[in-house]
Amino acid sequence: MDLENKLDKLTRKLYGRPINQVTDYEMYHVLLQFTKELSKEKKEISGDRKVYYISAEFLIGKLLSNNLINLGVYDELEKTLNKYGKSIASIEREEPEPSLGNGGLGRLAACFMDSIASLGLNGAGIGLNYHYGLFKQVFKDYLQMAEKNTWIEKDSWLNKTDVSFEVEFAGGKKVRSVLYDIDVIGYENGIDKLHLFDLEGLDEGLVKKGIDFDKEDIEKNLTLFLYPDDSDEAGNLLRIYQQYFMVSNAAQLIIKEMKDKGYDLYELDKHVVVQINDTHPTMVIPELIRLLTWDEGFTMDDAIEVVSRTCAYTNHTILAEALEKWPLDYLNRVVPQLVPIIKELNNRIAKTNKDEKIQIIDASKRVHMAHIDIHYGFSVNGVAAIHTDILKNTELNAFYKLYPEKFNNKTNGVTFRRWLLSCNRALAALLDEKIGKDYRKDAFKLEELLKYKEDEEVLNKIAGIKKQNKAVLVDYVRKNEGVELNPDSIFDIQVKRLHEYKRQQMNALYIIHKYLEIKAGKKPKRPITCIFGAKAAPAYVIAKDIIHLILVLQEIINKDKDVSPYLKVLMVTNYNVSYAEKLIPACDISEQISLASKEASGTSNMKFMLNGAVTLGTDDGANVEIHELVGDDNIYIFGVDSDTVIKHYEKSDYVSRDYYEKSKVIKEAVDFIVSKEALAVGHKENLERLYNELLNKDWFMTLIDLESYIKKKDEMFEDYEDRDKWKRMMLVNIAKAGFFSSDRTIEEYNRDIWKL
Ligand SMILES: *Cc1c(COP(=O)(O)O)cnc(C)c1O
Repeated sequence: MDLENKLDKLTRKLYGRPINQVTDYEMYHVLLQFTKELSKEKKEISGDRKVYYISAEFLIGKLLSNNLINLGVYDELEKTLNKYGKSIASIEREEPEPSLGNGGLGRLAACFMDSIASLGLNGAGIGLNYHYGLFKQVFKDYLQMAEKNTWIEKDSWLNKTDVSFEVEFAGGKKVRSVLYDIDVIGYENGIDKLHLFDLEGLDEGLVKKGIDFDKEDIEKNLTLFLYPDDSDEAGNLLRIYQQYFMVSNAAQLIIKEMKDKGYDLYELDKHVVVQINDTHPTMVIPELIRLLTWDEGFTMDDAIEVVSRTCAYTNHTILAEALEKWPLDYLNRVVPQLVPIIKELNNRIAKTNKDEKIQIIDASKRVHMAHIDIHYGFSVNGVAAIHTDILKNTELNAFYKLYPEKFNNKTNGVTFRRWLLSCNRALAALLDEKIGKDYRKDAFKLEELLKYKEDEEVLNKIAGIKKQNKAVLVDYVRKNEGVELNPDSIFDIQVKRLHEYKRQQMNALYIIHKYLEIKAGKKPKRPITCIFGAKAAPAYVIAKDIIHLILVLQEIINKDKDVSPYLKVLMVTNYNVSYAEKLIPACDISEQISLASKEASGTSNMKFMLNGAVTLGTDDGANVEIHELVGDDNIYIFGVDSDTVIKHYEKSDYVSRDYYEKSKVIKEAVDFIVSKEALAVGHKENLERLYNELLNKDWFMTLIDLESYIKKKDEMFEDYEDRDKWKRMMLVNIAKAGFFSSDRTIEEYNRDIWKL
C-alpha cells in the first residue's frame, strides 16, 4: 500500500492525473523519478581502496527493469501497475536505449558494473557520454545504413554533477568536461557510480546527414559518437582526441578523490586500482605519470613506479588489426605533452631489451598501446582459458617470458539479474520453485536443477517456457520488422557484431545449401527459422557485404512459396541489448561458430546457455569451457581446432579455392552468391566482391569448416526431434551455467588483481 500511495502521489505531482490516466511514456518518467528516489535511500558503497574500471564502451541497455529488480521492488510494483491496467514491460518500451557500446566488450563492462555493486565492492566505471552512441542501424535496398541513435532526454538516468575538468590538446587548445553519473544499483546492495564525461559546448547540430559530421571541429564534436569512422586521418586523430579526453578526465578525477580523502599520492597504489578495458584507455598511464610529475612534484622514477603498481590491463582480442598502434606523429599532433613520457617509457625498455617484439615504439614509429599496458601495468589478463593460453604461448609469448607473474585468466561472465531474472521471468520463477532462491546470490547453486534431469514435469515446464518465449519474440518481431515467424519452427540464432572471424558468412552458406536442398525436394522434418542480428562497422566493407547477402537471402527464401514453409531467414534491424533480451530466451540453437582461436571469449554463448539454448560451435573462446562443463552430450562442436588454425596462419598455407574445387556442396553454395537469382535481387558490386573474397582470400577460413558445420547442424536438427533428449540438454545447459555469472568473474578479479 505504501508503494502504491507513493506512486500515486508522484504521478499526480508530475502529471496532475492518477495512474490509470497517464500514458506509458508518462508512466516511464514517473518510474524514472520513483527509482531515483528509492536509490537515494540506498547507501553509497565506500572503502579506502577503490577500482576504477575505464572503458570506451558501457553497453548498459535499458535500466528500468534491472534497477527495479536490484532494488527488490519489481514484483510489488508490477502487481500495483497491473491493477491499473499497466505493465512494466510495456512501460519499458518507452525507455530510449543508449548505444554506448559496440558489442561484447561494452556489454561486459556493463555486466561488471552490476556485479561490482552487487558484491558491495567499492568501484566506479569511467567512460564517455556519447550523445548518439555507436549508430542506429536501418536497412535500405538490402544495405545497412547508419543513423544517429538519439537517447538523451531532458530527464534520464543521467545525473549532472558539478565535477568538471580542463583538458588541453596540442596548440594550447583547451576544452572543459562535464561529468554525468548513472547510479549502478547493486542487487540487494548499495550504489556505485558509472561516470560518463561529456564535452562542455558539444554541438549536436554538427551532425548533418546520417552520421556525418565535421571530424575536425573537436571543440564541438568530442562526445557525439562512439568509434567515429577512422578510414581517414581526421577520423584517426579524432579517436585519439576522444581517448585522451576520457583518460585525462579519469586521471584528474582519481587524483582529486585521493586528495579529497587526504591520502598521500605516493600511496596511490594502496588506494586505487585502475582496470584498463582493452587498449582504448591506455593513455591513462602516461597521463597519470604526467600529472604526478608536472603538478605533484614526483620524480619520473617515483611516478612510473607507483603508476605501474596501480594499473592493470585486460586484453580482449588477438586480432592484430584490433590492437591499437598509433603513429607517433598523430600523438604529437593531438597530445604532444604525452610524447616525451611515452618516449621515456619506451627508452627504459629499449635500453635493457632489444627484442623488437616488445618495444613500445616500433621501427615505423608507431606506438603499440598494448605494450605500454603490459610493461607498465602489474596485471595482464585474457578473458577465457583458451584465449589466455594463446596470449601466453603465441601472441604475447615474448612478454609472458619477461613477466610470467603478470599474466592471468579471468573467464568472462554475464549478470544473471539482466540475463535471467529480468529477461526470462518465467524460467526464474520455475527455478525459485524447484531449487529455491539461493542461486540468485550463488549461481553455482543452479546445479541443483540436475536432480530433475529425469523429471518429466520439470522438463516439460522448461520446454513450455521456451515455447512461451518464442511467442513473445514472434510478437516483437511482427511489431518491429513486420515479419511473421512460425513459433513452432526451430529458432536458430546468431546475434553478435558482424565480423568475418565470427563467420556469419558460413551460416549464410548453410542457408543457401538448405535452400537448394529443399528446392530439390529434400524437406526438413520441422521448419527452421534462421535469425541474425548484427551491426557492421560503417567502414568495414566486407562485413556490410555479408549483411547484404543475408538480406538478399531473406528476400529470396521468404518469398519462395516452395521453400518458405520450411525455411525462413530474418536479419533483425538494429540488434541491441533490448533485442538480445527477447531473442536469447526464445532460442533453440545458439550459433557460436567463430574460427577457432579468434573469438577471445564470447558472452552471448553464456546468455544463451543460461536460457536453455543448446550451443552449436567451434572449440573457441568460452565455448571450450561450456563444452567441459556440459560434456560432449550436451553441446555440438565441429571444425578444426585452434592449433590447426594457428599453424595455417604460420605457414600461410590455407587456400580457400582448394576447398571450393574439391567439394560440390561448397561450390554450389558459394556460386549461388553470384547466381542469376541472387543478382536479380541484390547488387552485383556487393555480391561479386564477397564471392571473390571467399574464393581468393577468405582470411577467416570459412570454407575449411563449412562441410563439418553442415553435417553437425543437420545432426542437431535431427536430435531436436528426440524431444526428451533435447529437453534434457536444455536442463543441463541451464544447470551448468552458474560458472558464467559475472559475480564469479568479479570475485576472481577482486581476489587476484584488485584486492579491495
Ligand atoms: C552479449 C551481447 C553481445 C556479445 O555477443 P557475442 O556473441 O559474445 O559477441 C553483443 N551485443 C549485445 C547487444 C549483447 O547483449
